[in-house]
Amino acid sequence: MKNTRASKRTHSIEELIRDRPLLPFLPLVYVAWADGELSHSELESIASQVASQGGLDAECRRRLAGWLDPADPPSARELGAILRTIRQIAPALPDDFRLTLAELGCRLVETDSEAQGAGADPAVESALADLEAALGIAGTEASRELLTRVRPLQVGEPKRAKPSFSPAVLQALLDAPYAEVRSRIRKLLSRPEFDYRFELDRPSYRRLVTRWCRRLAEEGFGALSFPRAYGGAEDLGAFIAVFETLAHHDSSLLVKFGVQFGLFGGSVLQLGTERHHREYLEDIATMSLPGCFAMSETGHGSNVQELETVARYDAERQEFVISTPTPHDRKDWIGNAAVDGRMATVFAQLHVGEDEFGVHAFLVPIRSDDGETLPGVTIEDCGLKEGLNGVDNGRITFKDVRVARENLLDRFGSVSPEGEYSSDIASPSKRFFTMLGTLVGGRISVAGASLASAKTALAIAVRYATRRRQFGAAGRPETLLLDYKAHQRKLLPRLAAAFAIDFAHKRLVRQFLAHGGDARRIETFAAGLKAYASWFNVETLQVCREACGAQGYLAQNRICLLRDDTDVFTTFEGDNTVLMLLVAKARLTRYRHQFSDLRLGGLVKLLASKALTAVSELNPVVTRTTDDEHLQDREFLGGAFRYREDRLLETLALRLRHRLERGMDTFEAFNDCQDHALELAEAHIERIVAEAILEAAGEHRGRDLGHILDRLASLFCLWRLEQRRGWFLESGYFESAKAKAVRNLVMRISGELRQDAEALIDSFGIPDRVLGAPIATGKVGERFSP
Ligand SMILES: Cc1cc2nc3c(=O)[nH]c(=O)nc-3n(C[C@H](O)[C@H](O)[C@H](O)COP(=O)(O)OP(=O)(O)OC[C@H]3O[C@@H](n4cnc5c(N)ncnc54)[C@H](O)[C@@H]3O)c2cc1C
Repeated sequence: MKNTRASKRTHSIEELIRDRPLLPFLPLVYVAWADGELSHSELESIASQVASQGGLDAECRRRLAGWLDPADPPSARELGAILRTIRQIAPALPDDFRLTLAELGCRLVETDSEAQGAGADPAVESALADLEAALGIAGTEASRELLTRVRPLQVGEPKRAKPSFSPAVLQALLDAPYAEVRSRIRKLLSRPEFDYRFELDRPSYRRLVTRWCRRLAEEGFGALSFPRAYGGAEDLGAFIAVFETLAHHDSSLLVKFGVQFGLFGGSVLQLGTERHHREYLEDIATMSLPGCFAMSETGHGSNVQELETVARYDAERQEFVISTPTPHDRKDWIGNAAVDGRMATVFAQLHVGEDEFGVHAFLVPIRSDDGETLPGVTIEDCGLKEGLNGVDNGRITFKDVRVARENLLDRFGSVSPEGEYSSDIASPSKRFFTMLGTLVGGRISVAGASLASAKTALAIAVRYATRRRQFGAAGRPETLLLDYKAHQRKLLPRLAAAFAIDFAHKRLVRQFLAHGGDARRIETFAAGLKAYASWFNVETLQVCREACGAQGYLAQNRICLLRDDTDVFTTFEGDNTVLMLLVAKARLTRYRHQFSDLRLGGLVKLLASKALTAVSELNPVVTRTTDDEHLQDREFLGGAFRYREDRLLETLALRLRHRLERGMDTFEAFNDCQDHALELAEAHIERIVAEAILEAAGEHRGRDLGHILDRLASLFCLWRLEQRRGWFLESGYFESAKAKAVRNLVMRISGELRQDAEALIDSFGIPDRVLGAPIATGKVGERFSP
């Protein structure tokens, strides 16, 4: 900046620099002006300090005051000259020098050629120290900034911290018991043919996704859950593991795969009988019969029991006639419908004669082999969506479309040629829920896919944060993002949560497989975990997007695409809110049974034991204790989640009872308490997730992974307790000192886990080529070529 006003100073800059008595003051003069942060009054007070320095002669004081006159700032040229002079001594200093401004000034004198090694005058030295104190600056830092022209260059990859465990061992634990099939799919997805293409138009993207899906079918992945007789492996667990692993790749491919093999294939497998399996499963597995799962309608998404497509039995021709009564009842959002589908599993109200038997599933051809829409069927494309644009979602309308009697998927209800309906389950409602229950694998799969998507984003964000530098102390390389506490806070508790959800998901899959066809017992768990994991994913994607700054916004770095694509995981396979309300209702039902099933003695005992827990858990010693050992004690952590769930359950039951006693009907009473019910559902599923990781840590105590699992378990539990601290404070479970101690511990464990962050990410086993993002694989600016 050019000074327009003429300076009143009698001394030129060259004179100041040559002026030996003033030489030691140069750093101070520079710092006083350089940042422009000193106010007029501060400069005046420094000038008056200078004026009162007995150690300086009058001329010296006068000249110095001239250089500190707020009304007469030095020009940019003058400041530059001062800085150049100061920096001349930099080469003589060691790398890690620590000098105050006063000491730096004295060094200037010592190295001045004319001074011939003489030190600064002690009076000047003391005057300088006084002035430095008056300026209120951290002199050693200011000196470093003055002398450091450029930061040391950080060449190559930053050194990786040595992890406290083996990522390969942890990966083996996460991959089990499906390591082999996961490895196969990872290898396939790492082939160049699966490289991402980000700028395709919609039709080309859809074609690419279809091609990819066919490759998966060729490799036998689509048939994993099907009977061996039809090319499958009868391994539903392996199919779920493949779906989860696939979710690290393009989400349109994942959803297309899920629709074809999981939903369409799954509906034939679960709702059909041997005849349907024989006729269709092989073609579905090879994708020579692309199909749809047509349940949702424009008018009914969540409330499937009341959907309105009709299937009327015509006994004379032994056919069902499928029709869409009004435009409101057309099938909507149906994956694979807009382009590829040849057949659809259509859910419709079954009418036989005068009787209605509720929702049943029918196999309805919708296109010919050459892709022409069949008579009576109208298909529209849903058009551009927020994400998943590689999936051809469509709307289907049926106008008296006839299908053979055998096309009813009749595992739970059949119609004889004469028009006699029969079912092993008499109650229409029970039949409907049994039927839907067999499709619970879809929810379990979406929970796993949500987790995999969050892991992908965390992998990208953590890898980036261990390479990307911003800001830092003067004279040192800029700081890695992951060394910032705020960044650790953002990513590490979420990383711990990914492990917790993973262990819970494994438990869910185990229970599901153990109960075989009778999936009803774990429906609540599946509904809750699907909602919990998909909400976690959406929040985590946003956090990771921001954690990568602008790079997170670039399509080839994938996080923003994943966010657009997987957002809908909160909606399809059951809207999350609706699912959580189901969870709450299931908890209430169990609670009611627990009471009504007990005889008086048992009930008293139960109440007494509940009261006992309440007393011990609200014991002031417990609510106040803040030491580390207590806060990381498994009993305390597990107990806090249990307490929250139990208390929310009891208070919800009480609130409902009051409303029912006041004459509200159950629908209204429940509606009135929906906020409470949702909180209960969340507390329920979170308790299970917390128990899953605490249990995993417990099982490995004293073994290779014991320490890292213990850290992850503590971090996840404490982080969630911290997030719910309002509730725990309100209910008296925490005193404020305890809430603060929990917060501090979250911060500390996050910091401790920093050195393990990359190894934790490695244990997810996502191949670089699948991860894709150049910011995560060290190839910023490069693209994978197709
Ligand atoms: C990309 C995509 C692909 C899809 N693929 C398929 C497919 O292949 N096959 C298929 O059959 N369907 C598919 N669907 C449809 C999907 O299953 C439905 O959208 C989903 O079930 C939700 O229904 P809805 O959209 O009608 O929402 P609604 O049920 O109308 O819900 C809207 C809002 O109302 C709230 N709400 C609803 N009921 C309650 C209540 N009782 N209490 C409080 N709040 C409530 C919900 O929480 C939600 O916020 C797909 C959807 C999308 C977006």
